[in-house]
Amino acid sequence: MTRILLVEDEAAIADTVVYALEADGFAVQWHRLGQEALAYLQKAGDVALVILDVGLPDASGFEICKAIRRFSEVPIIFLTARGEELDRIIGLEIGGDDYVTKPFSPRELVSRVRAILRRIREPVVQVSETMSAGTTTTVFDFTVDEQRATITLHGHLLDLTRYEYLILQYLLSQPERVFTRDQIMNTVWTQPETSLDRAVDTHIKSLRSKLRKVQPSREYIKTHRGLGYSIGNAFHEP
Ligand code: CA
Repeated sequence: MTRILLVEDEAAIADTVVYALEADGFAVQWHRLGQEALAYLQKAGDVALVILDVGLPDASGFEICKAIRRFSEVPIIFLTARGEELDRIIGLEIGGDDYVTKPFSPRELVSRVRAILRRIREPVVQVSETMSAGTTTTVFDFTVDEQRATITLHGHLLDLTRYEYLILQYLLSQPERVFTRDQIMNTVWTQPETSLDRAVDTHIKSLRSKLRKVQPSREYIKTHRGLGYSIGNAFHEP
């Protein structure tokens, strides 16, 4: 049974979430405190996804997320308060996979959970015609291994989050082509209509900084103002 870790201090919210998830066939481990949940996650080997409230009594959900990311890439959905747009952006920047704004429908949350778990099982966005039939494809200085869902730059394995991987793979599927934020969002995100345009920019920014660590003198991802992004062979920084 697929196990979900729920971290939420409000019992009424937790109850409805536990009920909806269990009705959908998930096993749920519920904790009120972030530190408790962290301790559980470190011991348990079978948590498929974490639903994490941002406002917890003992620590912020962001702190807990950062702590989780030190040892695990488990998908994280944040529960944020209404109108806290900044929270959503911070959440995605520090490694969250999605967010749901309170008040939310438990059914919607369950469908987000399902969508993320589905995407993990099928990490490949699309097989473009420019991609070769084998498991790895080399574009410029990058080598994409679709089966392993990894990308290397100059033979150096990039330490990418899932979204960074999907964005980079998407850009590399058609080199030099300009993709709009909407195209990137609709291809990469599980729930594009509820995600923010800023999320694409945020992930592009972190992706660039990772590429620079490997190849500091070059800028592969080009910004087309008002249009979107493309990847090319080593645009030199101005
Ligand atoms: Ca709370």
